[in-house]
Amino acid sequence: MKTLEQVAVTDYAAEGKALARIDGKVIFIEGAVPGDVVDVVLTKSKKDWAEGRVTAFRSLSPERVDPFCPHFGLCGGCKWQMLPYPQQLVYKEREVIQNLTRLGKITLPEVRPIIGGEDTRYYRNKLEFTFSSRRYRTQEEMRAAGPDMPAPEPGLGFHVPKLFDKVIDLKECHLQAEPSDLIRSTVRDFALREGYTFYDIRQHTGWLRNLVVRVCTTGEVMVNLVMGYEDRVEGPRLMDHLLAQVPGITTLLYTINPKWNDSIHDLEPKTYYGKGFVTETLEDFRFKIGPKSFFQTNTRQAERLYSVVREFAGLTGTETIYDLYCGTGSIGIFLSPKAGRVVGVEVIEAAIRDAEENARLNGVEHARFFTGDVTEVCDDAFFAAHGRPDVLITDPPRAGMHEQLVRKLLEIGAPRVVYVSCNVATQARDLQLLDERYRITRVQPVDLFPHTHHIENVVLLEWRG
Ligand code: SAH
Repeated sequence: MKTLEQVAVTDYAAEGKALARIDGKVIFIEGAVPGDVVDVVLTKSKKDWAEGRVTAFRSLSPERVDPFCPHFGLCGGCKWQMLPYPQQLVYKEREVIQNLTRLGKITLPEVRPIIGGEDTRYYRNKLEFTFSSRRYRTQEEMRAAGPDMPAPEPGLGFHVPKLFDKVIDLKECHLQAEPSDLIRSTVRDFALREGYTFYDIRQHTGWLRNLVVRVCTTGEVMVNLVMGYEDRVEGPRLMDHLLAQVPGITTLLYTINPKWNDSIHDLEPKTYYGKGFVTETLEDFRFKIGPKSFFQTNTRQAERLYSVVREFAGLTGTETIYDLYCGTGSIGIFLSPKAGRVVGVEVIEAAIRDAEENARLNGVEHARFFTGDVTEVCDDAFFAAHGRPDVLITDPPRAGMHEQLVRKLLEIGAPRVVYVSCNVATQARDLQLLDERYRITRVQPVDLFPHTHHIENVVLLEWRG
């Protein structure tokens, strides 16, 4: 593999990568920031561009600040800690503008300044930790251990990016407020003391598998402990110990997962203590969140994101709104007081059940939710049955919308479309098609994930016929 020395990193590219230009060739470099001078080993090399990994920092950018977390560099969680938050926002805003301006002939309104988070740490309401029979050892630890390979040790934390079987044994995490760290360390310390086994993802052996923690802005705290098999003696002992040590836990569940993968969507969590769910609020709306429910992970910023959607929707109280990719119905419910009716569509049936329950909980009687792939559900008969949308909200996953759906939206012709996206690249692609009949009139990026490169972007499209 080719190595380049003393490479001056000049710009931020996208998706967390910075770039350098050498002899007309663009080199994308992960982990570097503009202003760094680095040695790079090329991991991919094409005619006009290449990708590389930093092998040595010759000098550091004056932009850099000291990371606040000891796990920085290894953990995939807050990879942008080395940049001051205002600078992260500058780069995110630029990424939105770059993605949209490469749309060529499309006329764009001015992109509004990104709405940053007030809480740039401890902003996540949900974290999922993994127990592993092999915690990651740093190179210094390996060197200190000498020539013999030390025996694997258990750990509890996040997967090391790209290493499926190793976790970082987290000492602290700045993503979630207390009692999150306390819960994790209490469980880990007790488990180690009692000699409980941590799951081995290669051998598929071991007892403890995952620890899911939700800390809500309402003060409610939910823990779901996932175990490979049921132990009727040690399970209750561990959970009783946790409840005694962390009185803030309002509900504790456990889930038995004998499968080879970590997903719990097809498993039945059992309530050990409390109600079995927590309640989160967005403005005055209440949302019931169970162990398998989806909910935006940054509650305060979700509120601001949805406020932008509400503003762009421009409702007067009579409109029929469609909420595509509605998840647990939160956007539709948030907008419902000013809508004539709400029609939500989502592929996960359990999410639709949550949406229906959330609508009831908030006294929303004019919302209906449908399960299915939006591309299949949203045909002419569906729109005929539920009414032409005055405002259509779409919030697809990273892949964006299926082209067939975009074509359908062009046919249906809702006067307003509000497109919420977590991936501006696919959003830009879809907007290019929508441009045929729509004008982009407002663009508002929102930062839901400080210290990461992720961006949410809201675009208002108005029908021009
Ligand atoms: N609007 C919601 C959720 C957005 S996340 C909120 O703000 O909370 C995107 C959602 O799209 C997920 O719930 C996912 O399950 C759903 N989804 C993904 N592909 C889909 C498809 N083809 N049809 C319907 N829903 C889909």
